[in-house]
Amino acid sequence: MTRAQPSDSPPLFPPRESVVDVLLPVAVGSAYSYRVPEGMEVAPGDIVVVPLGTRRMLGCVWPRMEGARTVDPAKLKLIDRKYDVAPLQPAMLAFIRWMADYTVTPPGMVLRLALRHDESAGIARERTGVRLTSNRPERQTRARSKVIDALFDGFVRSKAEAAREAGVSASVIDGLIDDGVLETVVLPPEPAAEVPDPDHSRPALSPAQSAAAAELVASVKARRFAPTLIDGVTGSGKTETYFEAVAEAIRQGRQTLILMPEIALTQAFLDRFARRFGVLPAEWHSAVGSKRRGRVFRGVATGEVSVVAGARSALFLPFRELGLIIVDEEHDGAYKQDDGVHYHARDMAVLRARLEEAPIALVSATPSIETEVNARRGRYARLHLPERFTGTRVPRLEPIDLRREGPPRGQWIAPRLAQEMERTQEAGGQSLLFLNRRGYAPLTLCRACGHRIRCPSCSSWLVEHRFRRRLECHQCGYAMPVPNECPNCHEPNTLIPCGPGVERLHEEVQKLMPNARIQVLSSDLAGGVERLRAELKAIEDGEVDVVVGTQLVAKGHNFPGLALVGVIDADVGLGHGDPRAAERTFQLLHQVAGRAGRANVEGRAFLQTYMPEHPVMQALVAGDRDAFYDQEIAVREEAHLPPFARFCALIVSGTEAHAAQAHARALAACAPLTEQVRVLGPAEAPLALVRGRHRFRLLARSERNFDLSNYVRAWMAEAPRVRGGLKVEIDIDPQSF
Ligand code: ADP
Ligand code: ZN
Repeated sequence: MTRAQPSDSPPLFPPRESVVDVLLPVAVGSAYSYRVPEGMEVAPGDIVVVPLGTRRMLGCVWPRMEGARTVDPAKLKLIDRKYDVAPLQPAMLAFIRWMADYTVTPPGMVLRLALRHDESAGIARERTGVRLTSNRPERQTRARSKVIDALFDGFVRSKAEAAREAGVSASVIDGLIDDGVLETVVLPPEPAAEVPDPDHSRPALSPAQSAAAAELVASVKARRFAPTLIDGVTGSGKTETYFEAVAEAIRQGRQTLILMPEIALTQAFLDRFARRFGVLPAEWHSAVGSKRRGRVFRGVATGEVSVVAGARSALFLPFRELGLIIVDEEHDGAYKQDDGVHYHARDMAVLRARLEEAPIALVSATPSIETEVNARRGRYARLHLPERFTGTRVPRLEPIDLRREGPPRGQWIAPRLAQEMERTQEAGGQSLLFLNRRGYAPLTLCRACGHRIRCPSCSSWLVEHRFRRRLECHQCGYAMPVPNECPNCHEPNTLIPCGPGVERLHEEVQKLMPNARIQVLSSDLAGGVERLRAELKAIEDGEVDVVVGTQLVAKGHNFPGLALVGVIDADVGLGHGDPRAAERTFQLLHQVAGRAGRANVEGRAFLQTYMPEHPVMQALVAGDRDAFYDQEIAVREEAHLPPFARFCALIVSGTEAHAAQAHARALAACAPLTEQVRVLGPAEAPLALVRGRHRFRLLARSERNFDLSNYVRAWMAEAPRVRGGLKVEIDIDPQSF
């Protein structure tokens, strides 16, 4: 790979072109032109500070576009200065361009995903210090002499330090800078990460692990794009296996990106990484402070940071030399970003790996249908880890038919499951009850008039949160105190909670097992990431008998004492007309059930269901993963659904339902006609009202190999202008179709 390096020697001739294009992180289709000040040299990929209107912002010097308009240089503004961060590499520029094309988004909006973290804080965040020059002040004061005495050694100090040491106010320092007695210098950034040691502590791998690791290591050595599915049951040691590839990348001096769906919660992963490599990886997610993020950003760009473990946004870090990408739990829905730029981080990771000419490993015990099909067709290599590392069997799953052996009204735990939980506690084991519903009750109903309490600005019910004593909208965050009377008929004391949430389930377990230590795990409880990490640790350490959790518990945690899993409502995700319902339910329940019986504990899992004959339940109970994939792939193929067809959703939203619908109709009317695309709708979007905006959806469907992005781009070029607060969002490869 060739790299744009700033050259050290001055150019022989004055630069022919003193105008460059700069891509700015704004929603404009093309780059802006700027003049380069005399003496400054810039090349594509350089990050610069430029004026735009009254603001200054970071932008990226962009390769000159073919046929770019010529402008009178005299009218252009000057670049302010080069920003002190290593330039974006050509592969990164290509990634921004490709991703913008694919998602039908202005490239500036993709650049923004990369620069957002450095944008506002970044301009001010350069660490600077002051030191004495050889100039002496014209006007001498006592305070000034104190400063000169304190800084006489010539060392650089931050302004605050200098003021403190001299015992003067900061304004004295500023005055001396203005007079040229002190000069400002840029300090080298603090180190961003320690260097991992590839051989710090290497475990002895099982034969299956060794074989898989050897393949991965070979592809890291080959420095070629090589997509691979690491397909292995939970606990089969997939992590240790891909760690070998990470070690090889470190030896080669190349960088690794490890994407995870819920990085804020994976303390266990970080600990394991540290045990294997001696130091922590650089973390990248929203819970990392902005100072730290600034350091990681810079360190990634210089190549000093060699391994980043991060959430989907880490995909936009400016790696200097990316040698390997890992997408852990690749099937996870958290990889899809659905506001701003719509994209699937797994798919974009594959794109980035291709442009970087680096291998990529997608890791899962329950691959997405898309990835499974790619592996079956040989587009992705498959590395199989069929057995649990500890040799324990995958837990036995048993259905509990709620039609026949359900609990009494107002309770949610079937007698058989309750018995098993008590037995488990007596034997010193842990139980986990899984219910993917936050709060106390998903619906509040008036028993006098039948009124159901809705969110005033969304099409969703308000959910009771009893710990917080209020009703909340899970869509927009709206909250109100639980009212004493029905808001509709005004009868007092008629409101009743309907259905269970984890808080209510907790109440039931307390009644059933008064001596049990119970822990609710839900992403919305107070205390944030730190508290969650502490709670997870308490569970790992066996200080909890019963865990009541939402899907948070499904994500890769290792609870060594967990012997029993009870799924309270296995049917939750099914039967909404969502074509991904079967896939999601299978993945979620398989993962949850897989939590039971690690580390030498034989596990059992119960599925409470009204549909024990449903193919998803049958496949789960039979432990026949392939049967599920065979059937689901056949259904998708026959119904002409992804990955056998492609979809793009256009969501038109506005505060007036009429206007939004009319615009959606106008869009439909101007869709270019071609045999290869069918446009469906408009219809109400799956979330018809969100934050007071009415949403209508058009779906374009094409054959798998058709360039749907290009079609949509042409369509949008012909489309009527969006006016009056309406918004059109483009979602290529939408999750629901
Ligand atoms: P997966 O990611 O497939 O669910 P893990 O990588 O988490 O599996 O491994 C499951 C358990 O087995 C972990 O506790 C891990 O430390 C242990 N393990 C895996 N491979 C090895 C190995 N080669 N040597 C020792 N312990 C291992
Ligand atoms: Zn709402």
